Amino acid sequence: MIAFTELALATYCPRKLYYRRKNDDFEAPDQPGFELAFRYPSLLDAATDLTDEPIAISPASFRKNLRRTRRRVDRFDELCSPARRSVYLAGRDAHGVAHKLLADPPAPSIVSVGTPPSTGVWEPHAVRAVAATKALAYERETKIETAYVEYATHGLIRELEITGRRRAQYRRAVRTVETLGDPPPRLQQRTKCRSCAYRESCGVRTESLFTRLFG
Ligand code: SF4
Repeated sequence: MIAFTELALATYCPRKLYYRRKNDDFEAPDQPGFELAFRYPSLLDAATDLTDEPIAISPASFRKNLRRTRRRVDRFDELCSPARRSVYLAGRDAHGVAHKLLADPPAPSIVSVGTPPSTGVWEPHAVRAVAATKALAYERETKIETAYVEYATHGLIRELEITGRRRAQYRRAVRTVETLGDPPPRLQQRTKCRSCAYRESCGVRTESLFTRLFG
């Protein structure tokens, strides 16, 4: 069975997944800011000093985002006190952990400490959220239509409707993992490579500021 994290990585870059598997690099890195997703009420409290919190934006912007999130996300209170936390789920094709589980109706939430897109969620996060939704639906023998992705260090929660397009992205990721080449081709779009730990083994040269300005 495939891990949720492998599906997300295959969506980001199949070649990166290849290196991750080859080097057996699946140790979960420290994620500063992850716990923020479990402290929203106190972070909203004006009496809490956010200066030393592991947030990725200014305290004022973080609190503004979090207030907007509270207004816009119907199940915000449940996401603050989820029915269960770090729940292992096993579906038909994939297994892994949902960081939060809401009870009724059941819905998983995935927490990221990364930077969100301006709207919606990044595709690797969407694939991981769909994987959690499908595994939960498989375990409970029920249909689940919604998942959440939380960009905790930015105070944002994005609701994800499990549409046909999202299911297709998930199926594509499953196929990519099942047919992973040896190794898959490099990405054409090199912006994703700048922060990749496998740049050297991969043989990708990312553009320096100098070549961008004068190359
Ligand atoms: S350097 Fe780029 S192409 Fe190579 S593994 Fe990393 S993200 Fe993929």
